Amino acid sequence: MARAIIITGGNIGDVKPRLRQAQQLINAGIGIVLRCSHVYESEAWGFAAESDFKNQAMVVDTDLSPEELLVAVQEIEERLGRDRGAEAAEKARTGEPYSSRMIDIDILFYDDRVMDTPRLKLPHPLMQERDFVLAPLVEIAPEKVHPVLGKTVEELREELLARQAAVQNGEV
Ligand code: AMP
Repeated sequence: MARAIIITGGNIGDVKPRLRQAQQLINAGIGIVLRCSHVYESEAWGFAAESDFKNQAMVVDTDLSPEELLVAVQEIEERLGRDRGAEAAEKARTGEPYSSRMIDIDILFYDDRVMDTPRLKLPHPLMQERDFVLAPLVEIAPEKVHPVLGKTVEELREELLARQAAVQNGEV
């Protein structure tokens, strides 16, 4: 049994019920959802989007291996309407690196496993740069230590907010 932390999100249509469905499918197909954050709303990160994103993080106990977990979350994404073809077309049209999406499910942690393969990177490589990840994560697992950075999730968020404040104040 492993303890994974997963984040769900989306910004097309009525996202909240879809996040609830995702949580139910995760609980039924991946493992027991032990804790689940509130739904957080934030502006799109890394591209201009018409609608804000909603995100929710959860702690899940699972018997799946990391690779099986990735396959399982991608199956749930497809079941909930994720259309990678439409996203690729939007990226090609806008020239942006990211696109709007019905549902996105990322694996943030899998126990303290560190992996770097083309298909799966653990912990998720950009979490420490994204407050839309760290804010819900702090709610459910503030003491979790990042196995590479050696800091708690709470410390990573404090550092990110301090960096963002310094940029806003013109200090860097
Ligand atoms: P996305 O468009 O955000 O769903 O992610 C695109 C690709 O990221 C997927 O095809 C995965 O193979 C890869 N990936 C790498 N690491 C992770 C991770 N920790 N969680 C989810 N996807 C990952």
